[in-house]
Amino acid sequence: MIFNFSKRCIKYFILSLSKDRPFKFMKESAKKLKQFFEQTIAPPFCNQCREPLKKRDALCALCLEDIKPLVSTTLEITKKYKMRVFCVGAYQEPLKSFILAKSRSDNLACYYMAQLIYNHSLFKHLEVDYIIPVPLHWRRYAKRGYNQAAEIAHYLSKWSNVPVLHAIKRIKATPFQSTVSKEERFENVHDVFKLDLSEEQRKALQGKKILLVDDVMTTGATLVAVGKVLRVLHPAEFYGIVLART
Ligand SMILES: [Zn+2]
Repeated sequence: MIFNFSKRCIKYFILSLSKDRPFKFMKESAKKLKQFFEQTIAPPFCNQCREPLKKRDALCALCLEDIKPLVSTTLEITKKYKMRVFCVGAYQEPLKSFILAKSRSDNLACYYMAQLIYNHSLFKHLEVDYIIPVPLHWRRYAKRGYNQAAEIAHYLSKWSNVPVLHAIKRIKATPFQSTVSKEERFENVHDVFKLDLSEEQRKALQGKKILLVDDVMTTGATLVAVGKVLRVLHPAEFYGIVLART
């Protein structure tokens, strides 16, 4: 079967050279080739119950029903600025596994987290101008190799055409929020973020609607700390979106 398919690919390639728009034709052939390998070598399955799926999705229809929905919550950044935070559901299965997978450097988990946010939250209904991911300290970034919030933001931007702005830098490495008490969490992220924008970018954020992205929210201390840094740019509104909330 693979031999026949390879033969067909070569035929497609030769044929593409005779077409008016060879690159478009080659792009379509490459897409078909990718689909073929995905279906035969790594067929899609539900990440929770391992049921085979027709297309690459995070969860099957039955497991999607197990997500416990939560209404949005509002965080206070300052007296003037509030932030409405949306999520896909509660921090429990089937969502919890995606968040835990990321700590084992599972980059694919970020793709699925973005897919769940895109399809199963109010993301598509939000009118925002910029997506800003919550940053990771460079030391943690070096250890993990990627920032899960930035990866999620990348996919959300790709699918929605809303630009991503890496506007914030984490200047201090702090203990994981999950390792400190609820009361200590606001103190833990106090003074750890700094603006990382050019003068032009600072001006661009004025009067704009900003969406902060992270994987999980507990007390909201991190989102509030990032909001406090961004508020000096006088944005119009803040929103937050995460996969799950505790
Ligand atoms: Zn399932």
